[in-house]
Amino acid sequence: MEIIDDQPWNRGPMDPGPIDRKYFEAAAKGRLIIQKCPDCGHTQFPPKTLCTSCGQPPEWIETSGKGQVYTFTVVRRHGVEPFSSLTPFVLAMIDLPEGVRLMGNITEVDVDNVHVGQNVEAYAIRIDESMALPLWRPTQST
Ligand SMILES: [Zn+2]
Repeated sequence: MEIIDDQPWNRGPMDPGPIDRKYFEAAAKGRLIIQKCPDCGHTQFPPKTLCTSCGQPPEWIETSGKGQVYTFTVVRRHGVEPFSSLTPFVLAMIDLPEGVRLMGNITEVDVDNVHVGQNVEAYAIRIDESMALPLWRPTQST
């Protein structure tokens, strides 16, 4: 997952709890991670202390960083900066082949060209030295 370093963080203070923090710290190293249970194989996101299927402690796994749009909305008005300056923007639910659904912004796209089933890939923008925020963009054709 590519990390963009040259966008100053302006989306407010980020102080995630110890479990969520691992997700943002991994993103700062270019890895999109989710939890998988070593006992029953269940994958889950957002991260939890225990497997939501069998109650055992889950492990973190790295995903491919690729997904498909499950559903989305285009935000055309927002009352709070910096988000009002970012409109129109896309908020989407992304299905990963690893079996979880994540919420995130799809960027670097004409908002009128986003569609259900679209292939997207994760990238990240830096929050601070230790954390980054994963975002999504249409899969680069290779
Ligand atoms: Zn389990």
